Amino acid sequence: MPDLSFFLPGSGWAASGAGAMLEINLDAIAANYRLLNTRTDNAICAAVVKADAYGLGAHRVAPILEQAGANTFFVAHLEEGVRLRSYIAPTAHIFVLHGPMPGTQAEFTRHDLLPVLNSMEQVAGWHAHAGKTGNPLPAALQVDTGMSRFGLSDADVATLEANPDLLDGIDTKLVMSHLACADTPTNPANAMQRDHLRAMAARLPAAPLALSASSGIFLGPDYHFDLVRPGAALYGLAPNDDASNPLRPTVRLGARIVQRRTINAGDGVGYGLTWRAAGPRRIATLGIGYADGFLRHGADGEGCAWLGDYRLPILGRISMDSTTIDVSDVPENVLAQATHVDMIGPRRSVDDVARSAGTIGYEVLTALGSRFHRAYLTQVA
Ligand SMILES: *Cc1c(COP(=O)(O)O)cnc(C)c1O
Repeated sequence: MPDLSFFLPGSGWAASGAGAMLEINLDAIAANYRLLNTRTDNAICAAVVKADAYGLGAHRVAPILEQAGANTFFVAHLEEGVRLRSYIAPTAHIFVLHGPMPGTQAEFTRHDLLPVLNSMEQVAGWHAHAGKTGNPLPAALQVDTGMSRFGLSDADVATLEANPDLLDGIDTKLVMSHLACADTPTNPANAMQRDHLRAMAARLPAAPLALSASSGIFLGPDYHFDLVRPGAALYGLAPNDDASNPLRPTVRLGARIVQRRTINAGDGVGYGLTWRAAGPRRIATLGIGYADGFLRHGADGEGCAWLGDYRLPILGRISMDSTTIDVSDVPENVLAQATHVDMIGPRRSVDDVARSAGTIGYEVLTALGSRFHRAYLTQVA
């Protein structure tokens, strides 16, 4: 009978540590907020922290944005708003983009959350709720200026104009819409949506107006109105393809080198053996894979890691927990010192990774998983 005690519970599994490390630079996020705030003159610069601040951790990110001057926040869902309320000052405004689903209005009031009312049903629900509480209740009205996603239609706005009592009890703090093509400055849809917002707002109760998210800010002052709602730019993503990115990168993703080996001409690497060595290569296996949100398509195109100034191409397919790279160009004495390589870092941005994977930086950021060790960098206390 072999001795199996080592494999049984309580026999001392060594803590293995994480396969990868995600470093989140809170100071860079604050600097990006300040830059966007300066760029938008008199408009209020809100901060979008939905999806757990694009995957970076709203509990750490929102308070830093607050210190940098933000006092208006946007999330997508009620649950996100409830959680965010506990991280930031009671005086901060929290707008919930998807608005109140039936029966959830009281929850908004309880947590002092501002709904974005997107449909006549949501308007009616908020109106009825205000009637019950006996007080006018603040909210934003969203109008659809051309994206066909959220917001009141022209016909809805006409109905409200003809029946203003439908808005009784609703204290309209903001009239907002959202641009479909802001990352393409030359797209004529941008100006059409801007003009459409002005026309629709003229038929609604007077309120501050908002249209632009990150990319819209860079379309110029004509798109700033009274409030802007950047998300992606806070986290360092490029606002469009044309300009060089003025924002600071905010994340660094380092993957642990788990194993190294030398392979010979003809040897294959990874599932399907889709990559084969043309000659002898030195390769390394990293502790990061698609289950960490390092997308499987990241191996297509120009997928690579970096060690300092050495570019390390990804070989073959990305596995669930591991990725294999070519380290042949790195001198042995350098490699011997290295424990991690950069998957995202000074030489490779989130947007670069997205391009290799055939997607956008938003998807890469929000996909980055919870399996990493996370470190938050900040000089601010
Ligand atoms: C997500 C979102 C934003 C933020 O967009 P970014 O492109 O990340 O700046 C702003 N407004 C609305 C309505 C959104 O859904």
